[in-house]
Amino acid sequence: MRLAQIEKELAKVELVRQGLRAEQAKALGRKTCTSAFRDIGCGKKFQIHTLVYIQTHNYVSPYGCTGGDYWKQGEGQFECPECGARNRLYNRPEIMELSQYFKSIEKVHEH
Ligand SMILES: [Zn+2]
Repeated sequence: MRLAQIEKELAKVELVRQGLRAEQAKALGRKTCTSAFRDIGCGKKFQIHTLVYIQTHNYVSPYGCTGGDYWKQGEGQFECPECGARNRLYNRPEIMELSQYFKSIEKVHEH
């Protein structure tokens, strides 16, 4: 195969790949804005690839004479693009798995 032909085929494969990625994100589902406090969420549904995944980190204080302080990975959250409510996704393994399909991942550290 000639180089030009290979590059053309590769471009086609890349297009198929992008299409499949979009389908995968759709199949993985949507998240509803219900918020941590049920009375705040607007109830709208969003495809996860349109949401920013917020990865929280919790501060762990120093302990004993050798244990230093550190940041522990906390739960996932997302901010509703519609009403701005912060929704909890909790710490479930399937949520961690899903995080890569969000639009982006934002890391936050809170005490
Ligand atoms: Zn909302």
